[in-house]
Amino acid sequence: MKRREILKIATVLPLAGSMKGLTAPVQGDREPPISKRNLFKELELRTFINAAGVYTSMTASLMPKEVLEAIWSGADEFVMLDEVQDKVGEKIAALCHAEAATVTAGCWSALVLGMAGVLTGMDKQKVSQLPFLQGTDMKSEVILQKSHANGYHRALTNAGVSIILVETREEVEKMISEKTALMWFLNREAPVGKIKHEEWLEIAQKHRIPTMIDIAADVPPVENLWKFNDMGFDLVVISGGKAMRGPQSTGILMGRKELVAAARLSAPPRSGIGRGQKVNKEEILGMYVALEKYIHTDHEQEWRVWEERIAVIENAVKNIDGVFTEVVVPPIANHTPTLNISWEKGKIRGAGKDLLMKLRNGNPSIEMRSGKDDGLELTVFMLKPGQEKIVARRLREELTAFS
Ligand SMILES: *Cc1c(COP(=O)(O)O)cnc(C)c1O
Repeated sequence: MKRREILKIATVLPLAGSMKGLTAPVQGDREPPISKRNLFKELELRTFINAAGVYTSMTASLMPKEVLEAIWSGADEFVMLDEVQDKVGEKIAALCHAEAATVTAGCWSALVLGMAGVLTGMDKQKVSQLPFLQGTDMKSEVILQKSHANGYHRALTNAGVSIILVETREEVEKMISEKTALMWFLNREAPVGKIKHEEWLEIAQKHRIPTMIDIAADVPPVENLWKFNDMGFDLVVISGGKAMRGPQSTGILMGRKELVAAARLSAPPRSGIGRGQKVNKEEILGMYVALEKYIHTDHEQEWRVWEERIAVIENAVKNIDGVFTEVVVPPIANHTPTLNISWEKGKIRGAGKDLLMKLRNGNPSIEMRSGKDDGLELTVFMLKPGQEKIVARRLREELTAFS
């Protein structure tokens, strides 16, 4: 039987169904990716319904079937690591309107490698000097807005740079010097920063300073995949394993060709500061397929599904005496319908964290987040179809039990 046919069977078989007797192993010791072995049970790992959202601590997202198939089929041959990065990079770049792209070990790694590329260019001597900039002729400072310094900017310091925080245009102009390597922007905090995208780019371009924007969690909307390349940022970094549901350990660095090429000098298979940030070929292929699938998704239809799920949960709890519900959509980052549930403390005698514990320890286990006014907050984009009914029922049970 051909691989493709085996894969096809593998995807339609129920999980409990055994492959034995149906197909011969693909290649001696290699069988299709369906196993009766349940490692979650075996290792006594708690699995849960994820009504929280995309969080690294909760293993973020579940890869769709196409991505798993890409990983499985990608495991069947040897290729040169650089060649798979070249080819996948070209495809990703074309999909996202970038000159070039490379798959990284998460968005964090894209930040580190992009920074490294900006500092070193194609100079291998400089690549080997990172992260020690003193006594070299590399630039050493990154300028960003104070409100954009929320922790992720520390990835840049892995490459040895210091961070210069500014608030106003005047401060940027004052701090720019021959040491300035990069002007960095965190898309998520764009609304609170005094300087918006266009002005940031304008200042940087005037002084010929490279720019990088972090859009890690900022799809949906899907247009964000190309919007900032079109706008003129030199480098754009994004997570692969958040809403795009690629492998959790992947990200994308994309942008100007010479900068992406330079960044790759610090990445595997070469021994630079990114040598420990390896992405295997299976996941590079998985990232590509996830991106492609995400771009071709019917986003309006997906949004309607999310709204329907939210409605199922909201309707189950909003009539409980003392309970208030509200649906909000964060403008940037995790831009998806989000349900806030709060309650009159006299009518329901429990705090959000008490309910979180009850839901976590219940059967099935459910994760969501603490919300405002000591309430709860949940999203539905990481639910499997039908799980909204379970979340609705469990929430109603627990809220009623506390009333
Ligand atoms: C999640 C996140 C990152 C890190 O991304 P990983 O893919 O987990 O490495 C970086 N920046 C921001 C703003 C993020 O939200």
